[in-house]
Amino acid sequence: MKVEEFDALIVGGGLSGLRVAIELADTMNVAIISKVYPLRSHSGAAQGGINASLGNTEAGKKDSPKSHAYDTVYGSDYLADQDAVMVLAEEAPKIVIELESMGAPFSRLDSGLIAQRPFGGAGFPRTCYAGDRTGHALLHTVYEQCIRKGVKFFDEFFLVDLIKVGNNIAGLVSLDIASGELVVFRLESVVLATGGFGRIYKRSTNAIINTGDGLGAAFRAGIPMQDCEFVQFHPTTLYGTNILMTEGARGEGGYLFNKNQERFMSKVAPKAMELAPRDIVARAIDTEILEGRGFDDSYVHLDLTHLGKEKIMERLPGIREISMYFAGVDPIEKPIPVQPGQHYSMGGIASKYKGDFGETPLEGLYSIGETSCISVHGANRLGGNSLLETIVFGRYVGRAILKKNKQKKLTASDVKKAESNVFKSIENLFSSWSENTGKKPVEIRNAMKNTMDVNVGVYREATRLKQAVEDLQQVQKDFKTMHIETHERKFNFGLIRALELRSMVDIAEVTAVAALWRKESRGAHFRTDYPTRDDKQFMVHSLVTRKKDELVIDTKPVTLGLFEVKERAY
Ligand SMILES: Cc1cc2nc3c(=O)[nH]c(=O)nc-3n(C[C@H](O)[C@H](O)[C@H](O)COP(=O)(O)OP(=O)(O)OC[C@H]3O[C@@H](n4cnc5c(N)ncnc54)[C@H](O)[C@@H]3O)c2cc1C
Repeated sequence: MKVEEFDALIVGGGLSGLRVAIELADTMNVAIISKVYPLRSHSGAAQGGINASLGNTEAGKKDSPKSHAYDTVYGSDYLADQDAVMVLAEEAPKIVIELESMGAPFSRLDSGLIAQRPFGGAGFPRTCYAGDRTGHALLHTVYEQCIRKGVKFFDEFFLVDLIKVGNNIAGLVSLDIASGELVVFRLESVVLATGGFGRIYKRSTNAIINTGDGLGAAFRAGIPMQDCEFVQFHPTTLYGTNILMTEGARGEGGYLFNKNQERFMSKVAPKAMELAPRDIVARAIDTEILEGRGFDDSYVHLDLTHLGKEKIMERLPGIREISMYFAGVDPIEKPIPVQPGQHYSMGGIASKYKGDFGETPLEGLYSIGETSCISVHGANRLGGNSLLETIVFGRYVGRAILKKNKQKKLTASDVKKAESNVFKSIENLFSSWSENTGKKPVEIRNAMKNTMDVNVGVYREATRLKQAVEDLQQVQKDFKTMHIETHERKFNFGLIRALELRSMVDIAEVTAVAALWRKESRGAHFRTDYPTRDDKQFMVHSLVTRKKDELVIDTKPVTLGLFEVKERAY
């Protein structure tokens, strides 16, 4: 059994994992494992930008952290923890300037200041961007800093399971994809920064690698999943492939039309129009399609033609390229066909934001970024707040680990025993997969995705959600008898897909069960059988764990107090 030892290990080389590493690298021996080369993390796909109330534009002069926090809480339909949101908004301007000084190539105003564009649900233009490739620019910037600081990278190492002793993290077992060897990492501080779980759906803007592995590992270790019923559907994904068409396209002035050439957003958000928050725009598009006003009963048009060639080439070159390449449409000349698709996971691993920032109920285990639920997005995330969360909270989690700077408190014999148990259980799992005679992972995966798309989508109601829960219980059963070849371990991507599926089936079930439980409509969770928000019963975070074979739902209160709770209207 190969064993590696570090002071701290981060699982995930996206923006959040890299930002934690930067904070730790000066004083700790820190390493990152990532199942793909870090620069291929989904953070690199982010297009539109990162929010900060810099007030650089004329229209944004009066912006402030408080306005940013207000928009975020209002957009979250009051499910965000308001004090955590305030931290995010207050730190935002500092963190964007820090990124600038690290060399992030932000787009500029004529004055030379960082450019800012309007985004959905925001009172002022506060989204800082690098063309329409912001994530790519930031990921490279932060990665370079990690290299400079000597962070150790284990590329193409896959987290399989966590190791714990009592209520403490003791390390994890990973699979070295190239050699096929299981490698143990022994340490008392682990950060899960494994990104979202969008791939439990078929129609998704997420990278194929966004399979919720960190959530799955934490869930199997008994840690609650928080608010997983809140799934963000992005209104504008390219029809056919569901590649994201950034909100920046509407931020720059793009219109949405149905087949009768109506700007239908006037019906639901007469003031904000196309720049209403994502949940509202996604529902409006789905309604047009369901009521027969979509094209081919499947999509609407995102029209940029009136913006002109120059603006499109300068501000949205990636969008143009993707539209031409994947849909054969040049947005300078013709509107882009779009439909809603899964985009972001508001829920995640329940993690603290007071005291030991980002720590989960398992001592020494932290989570950060899209994997975690520190709850600044509540029931609906505003565009541009997620890149922000990765960087701001990356720094905070790093600081929390440094502050705790735990003296090693686990005994070597306990740790070795726990390692050996987890190691053996994984070997047994792999052998059983070879011996089983059941379905192939792809069949199980498709059954899961189908039911999630059909029954746990933009519009939800009890009958369909019950169907989803039933389907997913069958999926779980099929998974237990799944067959896959595991003897050859080198670059065995069948094995990797199976390990990903192991987490996905759990998280899909959590999502469906929580969605069935929440009998109200709030943010991205819309129940046609309970179409209004019910603050009396449901102004709470959901927490799902597995007890024996049952999923159990618990709740915890939302932190309010800064902003008065109101109805949302745009
Ligand atoms: C197309 C798209 C566009 C977006 N645009 C914006 C935007 O403009 N603004 C904004 O604020 N937000 C945007 N978002 C959301 C935002 O990009 C993400 O929420 C954020 O970048 C997530 O960062 P992360 O560090 O948490 O995870 P990721 O960047 O997804 O990184 C996850 C890391 O975990 C690793 N990993 C996963 N599983 C394992 C495992 N089992 N073992 C080892 N390593 C593992 C991966 O290799 C990867 O390095 C967008 C999202 C998408 C999908």
